[in-house]
Amino acid sequence: MTEIFFSLPDLRIFSYGTTIAVGVLLWIIEGLFPFFSGQKRRSLHAKLNLSVAALNLLILLPSALLMAFMLGWSKNAWPGIGMLALPPALEAIVIILLIDLWMYVWHRLNHETAFLWRFHSVHHSDTTLDVTTSWRFHFLEILLSELLRLPLFMLMGAGIEHLLLYSLFMTPVIEFHHSNVSISPTLDRLARLIIPSPMMHRLHHSRLRSEHDSNYGSMLSFWDRLFGSFQMRDNLEGLRLGLDHESDSDKQQLFALLFRPFRP
Ligand SMILES: [Zn+2]
Ligand SMILES: [Zn+2]
Repeated sequence: MTEIFFSLPDLRIFSYGTTIAVGVLLWIIEGLFPFFSGQKRRSLHAKLNLSVAALNLLILLPSALLMAFMLGWSKNAWPGIGMLALPPALEAIVIILLIDLWMYVWHRLNHETAFLWRFHSVHHSDTTLDVTTSWRFHFLEILLSELLRLPLFMLMGAGIEHLLLYSLFMTPVIEFHHSNVSISPTLDRLARLIIPSPMMHRLHHSRLRSEHDSNYGSMLSFWDRLFGSFQMRDNLEGLRLGLDHESDSDKQQLFALLFRPFRP
């Protein structure tokens, strides 16, 4: 597959480069055309979320390297979907769809399991939604996700190239639906035919549990419609973001967020 699309190093550069370029672009646009207006201290908010992200990069680098090594090794030992001898492009599409389905299931489990919610609530306690929220996850949530998804990916025969290709498409979508960019309702409606749109994901960050337990999709909105978790309402301008008891200013500090899963 890598010979058809890109070489592995090129795929890495595209994937990481796109994440940074789209992130910076959205940061500029949401500053100029915000959906939630009157957001103050954007840079302070970004500083906290980027600190969480930077720490994740540092802590999780060994597990990412291990993941790459294990997928490389398992692909030779067990071809998974490779046994169907599909054309490489079709195989890549099937694997990307399966990875996105897993992301849906994993996200839903994070909301429906009290233990996992301890970690995922760090993402939801953000009272301001912008592109930097897309990088705000507790490192143990990511680590748990990697531990669970590794055997699944090995079973399906995914290679590191599939993961990078998935990330190339999925990460800009995640950045976009967290961003505070104001787009017209018609454009949002069109976008959510395919991807979880900003409006969809804003509702997912509602303070009300009946609203934030919905719209779990990462790259495709199709899964929410298929599994009955799609939810939308017309007017989101007065939406209250964050979580009761978790979004107070004393809990919106780096160490408080890191220790959040261990608090009663
Ligand atoms: Zn969530
Ligand atoms: Zn989110």
